[in-house]
Amino acid sequence: MKKNHVEVWDNCLSVIKDNIHYQSFKTWFEPISPLKLDNNVLTIQVPSQFFYEWLEEHYISLLKKTITKELGSDGRLEYSIIMDSSTTNKEPYSIKVPTSNRKDTKNPAVAMPIDLNKGKSRDIPNPFIIPGLKKIKVQSQLVDSYSFERFIEGDCNRLARSAGYAVAENPGRTSFNPLYLYSNVGLGKTHLAHAIGLQVKNNFPNLTVLYVSTEQFMAQYIESVRNNNQNDFVHFYQMIDVLIVDDIQFLAGKEKTQDVFFHVFNYLHQKSKQIIISSDKAPVEMKGMEPRLLSRFKWGLAADLQIPDLETRIAILQKRIYSDGIDVPYEVIEYLAYSVTTNVRELEGALISIMAQSSLNKKAINLDLAHQMIDKFVKSTSKEISIDYIQKAVCDYFNLPVDIINSKTRKREIVQARQLAMYFSKKHTKSSLATIGMHCGNKDHATVLHACRTVNNLVETDKQFRVYVEELDKKIKL
Ligand code: ADP
Ligand code: MG
Repeated sequence: MKKNHVEVWDNCLSVIKDNIHYQSFKTWFEPISPLKLDNNVLTIQVPSQFFYEWLEEHYISLLKKTITKELGSDGRLEYSIIMDSSTTNKEPYSIKVPTSNRKDTKNPAVAMPIDLNKGKSRDIPNPFIIPGLKKIKVQSQLVDSYSFERFIEGDCNRLARSAGYAVAENPGRTSFNPLYLYSNVGLGKTHLAHAIGLQVKNNFPNLTVLYVSTEQFMAQYIESVRNNNQNDFVHFYQMIDVLIVDDIQFLAGKEKTQDVFFHVFNYLHQKSKQIIISSDKAPVEMKGMEPRLLSRFKWGLAADLQIPDLETRIAILQKRIYSDGIDVPYEVIEYLAYSVTTNVRELEGALISIMAQSSLNKKAINLDLAHQMIDKFVKSTSKEISIDYIQKAVCDYFNLPVDIINSKTRKREIVQARQLAMYFSKKHTKSSLATIGMHCGNKDHATVLHACRTVNNLVETDKQFRVYVEELDKKIKL
């Protein structure tokens, strides 16, 4: 009897589970979902490029063994990576074949599981639709974990989120059509777009929802030109009730694809179908787009997503940890949220790295481990001045161990170092007095205020002290 992809993967998992640490299993294997089993090739979906690389680096031999056990020696494994292509110039979906020596010669853009129309195989010339066959089942390509429920609301995303929610309640019938979401990378566009799609499907099971990356759209269009069936391509898209097109900026300079998208857009819009577009820029800042297309992007609502503030970053981490079912001390969460201020993806990346470190080295997740990780991590990403960074600079300068600032000591030199850390935190970060106090020895805001006054006074009156402050200031801003 032939097994299907779910059974095969389940069997693999049960072996894997017995062979690795529980935490590692939770971190690296539970988030994987099996997609399909075709010709002895099992395709699994992994949440990110990082994830995929991690699996390849650490679990390849285990995976190989289990796949061979399940599928025989010619069994193969392919990955489908959910990822945002705007962060990298690499092929958007890379597929590796770790369990076979055969070279994968397929073009990854073609090999990727588009599966809009289940049978994208060589003997069906039309990969999208057979005209007239309205009952075609469209796979929405939505990722279940990108739900509204898991999308944390903050000032940074309130407008976009609530507009998205309104759209999901009433697709095509609000004035948010198209809904145009824009932000820098890693701030939740893709997540929110999926959330809208999922919610629509929930509310209106009969509507056809499709999430497509702009690159997929382009690749399909090119394929349709090659096969001389552009009409089918267009017809397919005209069937969609809620069309989500991610990272539209990739259409820049692609005149032909813009043209075809323009027609699809008009058709759907006229029929009051919902269109959701994401981009890394506001419509006015987009380059290489036809004006008539750009003007349509402005018809509905353009809503941006910003970097979440500290509280929201903490909430995002907590949610993530909660849904992963892991134990991470609050101080670690807070420390991560403090240190990684660039975007949510990097924030999650830092968390994943810590979980991975902890599970691999069988070390507890604690502040120490977090410090080590962040040292490596943040240096390569951003140089935002944080309270921790300042503390470290001050302590290095006076040759003190950094955690002494948080001790109860009232020794003069330590009190002074603590006061300097507070002073510079006030000067260089946006943190409130209360927050600064909390992070410098658990003091209250009045203590911080007092520290700032003391330092200012000393700068006025003590020449040596002034030199300290000036030198330190330079060091911190470096
Ligand atoms: P973008 O498409 O803007 O580059 P993504 O939607 O891919 O960003 O988000 C990057 C990661 O951050 C995803 O794992 C996503 O789930 C997470 N994320 C972003 N914003 C939020 C949020 N408000 N709440 C929870 N998770 C978020
Ligand atoms: Mg994205």
